[in-house]
Amino acid sequence: MPLVVCPHCEEDENLTGETADGAITITCGGCGAVWERDMTPRCPTCGSTDVREALQAILDKSRGTQLSIQSMKVVWLCPECDAHTLRRYLDSNTPLPPDVMPVDPR
Ligand SMILES: [Zn+2]
Ligand SMILES: [Zn+2]
Repeated sequence: MPLVVCPHCEEDENLTGETADGAITITCGGCGAVWERDMTPRCPTCGSTDVREALQAILDKSRGTQLSIQSMKVVWLCPECDAHTLRRYLDSNTPLPPDVMPVDPR
């Protein structure tokens, strides 16, 4: 297992790892920082590791009906399987829309 070091305080022993959704979330016991450890990105469709980094918006409803970008997450696009999405992302130079738009609970 490669060495993991807290990006905040450089602690490398007092760390807790938790796996969720294929990503490893590390919590630093020293300073409380939480971050996701980089895993080798891989296309879920064809298994290729030749994928491109893209940002996807995480939307949340602010007060009223206005949707606002709350945060962004890194997603990986495969030039083969996600060619259309990747091209749109590179052309628009804006974060990708979320997979699921927030809806009104009814
Ligand atoms: Zn730390
Ligand atoms: Zn692919």
